[in-house]
Amino acid sequence: MKKYLLALDQGTTSSRAILFSKEGQVMGMAQREFTQIFPQSGWVEHDAMEIWQSQLAVIAEVQAKTGINAAEIAAAGITNQRETTIIWNKTTGKPIYNAIVWQCRRTADYCEQLKNQGLTALIKEKTGLKIDAYFSATKIKWILDNVPNARQQANAGELLFGTVDTWLLWQLTKGAVFATDYTNAARTMLFNIHTLQWDLDICEKLDIPMNILPSVKPSSHIFGDIHADFLQDISNKTSKTNETSQPVKIAGIAGDQHAALFGQCCFQPGMIKNTYGTGCFTLLNTGTTAVYSKNDLLTTIAWGINNTVEYALEGSVFVAGAAVQWLRDNLQLIQTAEDSEKYATQVADSNGVYVVPAFVGLGAPYWDQYARGTITGISRGTTKNHIIRATLESIAYQSHDVIKAMAQDTNQNIQQIKVDGGACKNNFLMQFQADILDINIVRCKVTESTALGAVFLAGLAVGFYSSKEEILQKIEVDKTFTPQMDNEQRQVLLKGWENAVKRSLSED
Ligand code: ADP
Repeated sequence: MKKYLLALDQGTTSSRAILFSKEGQVMGMAQREFTQIFPQSGWVEHDAMEIWQSQLAVIAEVQAKTGINAAEIAAAGITNQRETTIIWNKTTGKPIYNAIVWQCRRTADYCEQLKNQGLTALIKEKTGLKIDAYFSATKIKWILDNVPNARQQANAGELLFGTVDTWLLWQLTKGAVFATDYTNAARTMLFNIHTLQWDLDICEKLDIPMNILPSVKPSSHIFGDIHADFLQDISNKTSKTNETSQPVKIAGIAGDQHAALFGQCCFQPGMIKNTYGTGCFTLLNTGTTAVYSKNDLLTTIAWGINNTVEYALEGSVFVAGAAVQWLRDNLQLIQTAEDSEKYATQVADSNGVYVVPAFVGLGAPYWDQYARGTITGISRGTTKNHIIRATLESIAYQSHDVIKAMAQDTNQNIQQIKVDGGACKNNFLMQFQADILDINIVRCKVTESTALGAVFLAGLAVGFYSSKEEILQKIEVDKTFTPQMDNEQRQVLLKGWENAVKRSLSED
């Protein structure tokens, strides 16, 4: 009897496996951190074999913990850190270089060259992206140009490229399936999001051979089977059933932010999710239309299901929860991130203080990489509590700016925002977010939206769920934060924030 779904959630710092019931409840979870490699300033790598081994280990661990047999798992879904680039030899299965992580800036200069060649508009039109070292394309080129013999091997058809989903899929199927999904392909800067094909023109301009690229499938799709060998230990350990280990279908793949949008059931155009982690990632469903932003937000594929592709606008705030870490680790004003709520609510307001945590510049809609952190409005009466409160408020103000830009780009009247991520547990922050946006903020009971999205996509593909409507029934709201602030006060506060941001911008 197939009663469960398995999520493989491969993140930037850890690999996780979560088993869900059909109702979307977490049955068990296993997690392993892996090594972050920093070969030089601005460079970030992972050992691709360690990613694979850690992912394999947590599958075994979660099955052992829950006693759930492979035969009881209806399907598995993969969700992953996006853009991270792996190239491996298809015969030996060995990576020819470490995984180059999305955060890695090593190709920033090459990206400047591409911009100087006048490719910005072409790349934006075809891929929905800004030219940036963040995306996979220039990382692929770097490996091919810098690893001895890599180009010859690629030309001889010996190499494969994949984002982390593709790498795991290839390993889990013992090399039988070499594929990715639309959402991951859309983050490579090589994929045409309109034709749904790898783009020959871009590949030629960047000198990337197309024979190394995986085939691209919908996000909800039966990709292949997790080989029974990788599930064997578990069925031996359980005496609940006599069924022998069997393969489990991998039937859903999506990049982490896209999976979270799906896991939050943002199925209709105009629906938004905001993830409050180290940074904030906001995605707005724009339906079957790829909307181009006037505020330099990214256009991306939300997911592909059956023959339909839906699109999303994406904006990010670089420093969100990280500003709370700064309060804790650098200023030592709080002991834990949770403490921030306690101190912030000891004062009635921030007493005119604004913190602009532009530690690494400002993203959408300002796009000033030389902006720097600023605190304004300090007076003799300013206390630690005001600074803490203003720091939490800055997370909400920055998200406000992204969400207002999205509303402007789409002419949408946004009704509500679904939230997840570590800092969404902060009730003060969520209430302030509702107040400053004048929009309801909805927090669900199960906050594992990313993993949920992956298993929902998988469950749909194998018929475990009959429709998106059925999935919607599984979501239970924990709390809705409704705006309490009057408009006059909101405008005064926003004006103050605008002035503070102006002071943090570089002067050029
Ligand atoms: P990531 O996936 O980016 O590592 P998480 O979703 O795990 O992030 O969230 C962790 C971040 O959220 C940290 O930056 C932490 O400072 C912040 N955070 C966690 N709990 C709270 C809280 N109660 N209030 C404010 N910030 C919090």
